[in-house]
Amino acid sequence: MIKKETIRAYALENAIKHKGKSNQGSVLNSLFAEGLKKENIKETIPVIQEVIDEINSLSFEEQEAQYHLTKHQLKKREQREGLPELENAEHEKVVLRFAPFPSGPLHIGNTRQLILNDEYAKMYKGRLILVMDDTIGSEEKPIEKEAYKLIEEGVNWLDVNRDKKIIYKSDRIKDYYEYAEELIKKGYMYVCSCTKEEIRETRAEGVECPCRNLPESEHMKRWKEMFKAKEGEYVVRLKTSMQHPNPAFRDRVLFRISEREHIRIGKKYRVWPLLEFSWAIDDHLLGVTHIIRGIDLIMETEVEKFIWNIFKWKNPTVLHTGHLAIQGIKISKSKGAKEVRAGQYIGWNDPRTWSLQSLRDRGIKPEAIREFIISMGMTKSNSTVAVDMLYAINRKFLEDCPRYFFVEDPIKIKISGAPAIDAELPLHPSKNLGKRIYETSQEFYIQRQDAELFQDKNYRLMHLLNFRSEQLLKTKPRTFSFISEDTDKNLDVKFIQWLPANDDNIVTKIRMDDGSMITGIGEPELANLKIGDQVQFERFGFVKLYKKNPGELEFWFTHR
Ligand SMILES: [Zn+2]
Repeated sequence: MIKKETIRAYALENAIKHKGKSNQGSVLNSLFAEGLKKENIKETIPVIQEVIDEINSLSFEEQEAQYHLTKHQLKKREQREGLPELENAEHEKVVLRFAPFPSGPLHIGNTRQLILNDEYAKMYKGRLILVMDDTIGSEEKPIEKEAYKLIEEGVNWLDVNRDKKIIYKSDRIKDYYEYAEELIKKGYMYVCSCTKEEIRETRAEGVECPCRNLPESEHMKRWKEMFKAKEGEYVVRLKTSMQHPNPAFRDRVLFRISEREHIRIGKKYRVWPLLEFSWAIDDHLLGVTHIIRGIDLIMETEVEKFIWNIFKWKNPTVLHTGHLAIQGIKISKSKGAKEVRAGQYIGWNDPRTWSLQSLRDRGIKPEAIREFIISMGMTKSNSTVAVDMLYAINRKFLEDCPRYFFVEDPIKIKISGAPAIDAELPLHPSKNLGKRIYETSQEFYIQRQDAELFQDKNYRLMHLLNFRSEQLLKTKPRTFSFISEDTDKNLDVKFIQWLPANDDNIVTKIRMDDGSMITGIGEPELANLKIGDQVQFERFGFVKLYKKNPGELEFWFTHR
């Protein structure tokens, strides 16, 4: 039950915000931050009403005076737009966890769970634990040594507020053994020597295998033998029920033998827990209060609950979020890893991996990713969002970028009659970012693709001059003739990107989002940029400077 003086403090604050009239619903809402539980709402409402009646009868000055005396009692909670309150959440007592399997760096698809967990930890001033979910993995989905560092780097880059200490599942195997033994001794788990095929068959038919009803002492003996046995000889199964309506839930396998070498701890262990067993134990040991995980893990949640209930442990609140598909991109952590190892990708930051490292190097802001994820909320249903939405959000953060000229695959044209111009061009149309001066003659570089599309029409070199393109005879080359400098509303023109044809331009390469590289020339001023600077190439898109070589710059493409 919340103290009356606390309720009074919130009611006073609410009255001051609303012209001296405190509102019951708003006060009630704010009490959840104080630990108000759903089951206590009914008894709390009359108290709130009593307090409000009293406060609303005070003058505004009096309300203000009293508010200043009581406001220290308010637990200020940062309001996070877009996300609903967390069930059963108590201020400063929420403990969450984010547990990636280290098969590669985190990618955009993983950020949903990470950011939701982080947002809720921040909302309730709780804790978020980073857990490396590194049990043995499989042949098809092995652990990557570098993934540990890459995951940590990605989490930090997204400005996630987590416990300093990282938990490694591979350090806790002995703990899992301890609890497993207890469950075997008490007859809640058993050691099964049936083959995979036999298990599949009996499970489908709902028939108990001969191992199931052996005495506990026999299972303890088998459990000890398991540590010397061969892969596949034994598995440990949870005694749920072989008649459970969902065959997948029937006596799940929770431990198995794997002779594979663990990348972090070598061959120290050969009996490995499955994810749901390790989680059932760790969520308890780590004091996790809330689990936010994908809807694909509903079965795992059920198994965890089953185990928590055997031990009579308090169940954390579990929330499942729908699967998020991002239209326009294809991600597979294991495929990405394969391509990186095979040298098909340039590294863990290859744009095709969609790793956080790749997004960072392309120039996607961590704030944009966060906003993108939060905008999708906590929906349980699967959803598809276009990647363009992420780009649209990111663009807001890049509005102030200076704009430069870049010409892809340049060819030279001559515009006869064009005067020598000292063109003063600002780096931004509205921000005062400075300007540069181009001295132009009659020769210009333009993009080959633009040149190939020339028709007998009028064109404009961006910010510079209008000209006419003509081909009088099919056998004769196209000619270009100067019209005027100023923009002319009466002149129907198509815009062309350009650079003055001189030796000052700098070779500029751009790594595109499909991994390909395009080459062109950029204006000389680009040489003054620092690695990591983000700029916009006019009529091309946003880019981030990745590498500087003598006489050559490499940018990565962000988006249009
Ligand atoms: Zn069996």
